[in-house]
Amino acid sequence: MFAVWHWLLQVTGTANESGKWYAWWSGFGADLEEFGIVVVIAGVYKRHKCQSCWRPALKGGLGRVAGTHYETCHKHTNKDVHDALKEQHRIRHPEMHEHLKGESA
Ligand SMILES: [Zn+2]
Repeated sequence: MFAVWHWLLQVTGTANESGKWYAWWSGFGADLEEFGIVVVIAGVYKRHKCQSCWRPALKGGLGRVAGTHYETCHKHTNKDVHDALKEQHRIRHPEMHEHLKGESA
């Protein structure tokens, strides 16, 4: 990669300004890193977000909907919401409920 850059800088006659280019490149690289961090944070947020709204889920699995990977915030920890989410989960991920057949659902 850097060999290509070097060649490019030689050809375009900007080699004497390589300091500027490297600064630009490292800035670009840092941006990519930041972008990666944002993606990771967004992923963690999505994973630990309330299934019914935008709020983050309760910590320590307190908002976990039994039998699913769903989590809810303090506003949605009531039985009605959890029962609805369980039903939704059963419809969306029937394969994850196969092993529960025969057990009290
Ligand atoms: Zn919620």
